[in-house]
Amino acid sequence: RIVLGIESSCDETAVALVDTDRRIVAQRIASQEAEHAPYGGVVPEIAARAHAERLAPMIEAVLDDAGVGLADCAAIAATAGPGLIGGVMVGLVSAKALAMASGTPLLAINHLEGHALSPRLADPGLDFPYLLLLVSGGHCQILSVEGVGRYRRLATTIDDALGEAFDKTAKILGLGYPGGPAVEKLALEGQADAVSLPRPMLGSKEPHFSFAGLKSAVLRAHESGEHAAADIAASFQQAAIACLIDRLDHALEQIDAPPNLVVAGGVAANQAVRGALEAFAGERGMGFSAPPMALCTDNAAMIAWAGCERLPLGEFAPLDIAARPRWPLDPEAEPVRGAGV
Ligand code: ATP
Ligand code: MG
Ligand code: FE
Repeated sequence: RIVLGIESSCDETAVALVDTDRRIVAQRIASQEAEHAPYGGVVPEIAARAHAERLAPMIEAVLDDAGVGLADCAAIAATAGPGLIGGVMVGLVSAKALAMASGTPLLAINHLEGHALSPRLADPGLDFPYLLLLVSGGHCQILSVEGVGRYRRLATTIDDALGEAFDKTAKILGLGYPGGPAVEKLALEGQADAVSLPRPMLGSKEPHFSFAGLKSAVLRAHESGEHAAADIAASFQQAAIACLIDRLDHALEQIDAPPNLVVAGGVAANQAVRGALEAFAGERGMGFSAPPMALCTDNAAMIAWAGCERLPLGEFAPLDIAARPRWPLDPEAEPVRGAGV
C-alpha cells in the first residue's frame, strides 16, 4: 500500500510517495533557502507564498515520476502542525482538496511524529520501544517512543531548541542561514577546548535542556575578539554535545533502558552529534539508530511513512480538520516554564 506525503511546515516544500514496505517510490523537495537567506531566517509570509506556488506542480510531478494516481494511494498524509501556520495550511488544504476530489482518505500528521518515526523508515529492525532524542529547529526533546501515537516526553528545552542555537551561533559568526551545516563545517577547523563555554543544566536533577546561556556565551566570546570563529564553532558544538549526553544520562536514570537509542530531526544530520550519541549508546550497551542525513531535515518521506505507520489505526481525518501551529506529541506532558511545546 502506498501513501502520498505532503510537508510544508517550515521552509521545505516536499512531496513523497512511500509504501508500507518502506520504499520511497518517488519524492521531490524544494528548499526556500534562497528566499529566506537575505533575512537571516525564515520569514513566515514568504514561506507560505512559496509553498502555495510550488506545491501543486510538485504533487503532480511526484505522481508522474512514479506513474501513480491518487486512486492508487491508500491515504494522503499531510503535516497538520506544529509549524508556521500559513505553510501548514497550504499543505493541509491542498491535501483536503485532493482527498475530496479523489475520495482517498486524509491523514493529518504531526510533523514531530514524522521526525519521531523517520528512523523506522530506514531501519526495518528498529522496533518499539526506543529512546528518542528529537533535535530540530524548533524542538529539543527526549521521548520514550512506545508505539505509533504513544510518546512519553521525558525532557524538553526550557528556552531554545538546539537547531535554533546552531542557527544563532552561525548568525553570530557571520556564517549565514541556514546555520547548522555551516557551524559543523567550520568546527572541523577549530579546537573544541579553545573557548570555555557553559554547559547549561549539566548535572541538574531536573530533566530538561537549556541552550540560551550557551548562545549568549557564544556572542560574548565572539565580541571579545579573542577567539577565532572556528574555535568558537568547535567549542560550541562540543558544549552542546556534552549537554545532550548529560541529559540522556539523566533520562536513563529515570526509566528502564530500552534496547535502542535513536536520534532524529535536523540536528541529527550532524556527524559529531551522531558519533557522540553512538559512542554513548555503546557504553550503555544500547543499539543506536539514526536516519540517513536526507531524512533528518524536513522532508515528505517521513510524513508519508508516518501515514503508512498510521494506516492500520484507521484514524482518518475529517475534511474540516484544523491546522495546528502548536501540537505537542505527548498531550500528557507537564507544561514547562518558558518552553514552547
Ligand atoms: P521542527 O521540526 O522542530 O518543527 P524544523 O522543521 O525547522 O523544526 P528541521 O528541519 O527538523 O527543523 O531541522 C532544521 C534544523 O536543523 C536547523 O536549525 C538546522 O540548523 C539544523 N541542522 C541541519 N543540519 C545540521 C547540522 N549538520 N548540524 C547541526 N544542525 C543542523
Ligand atoms: Mg528547513
Ligand atoms: Fe522538522
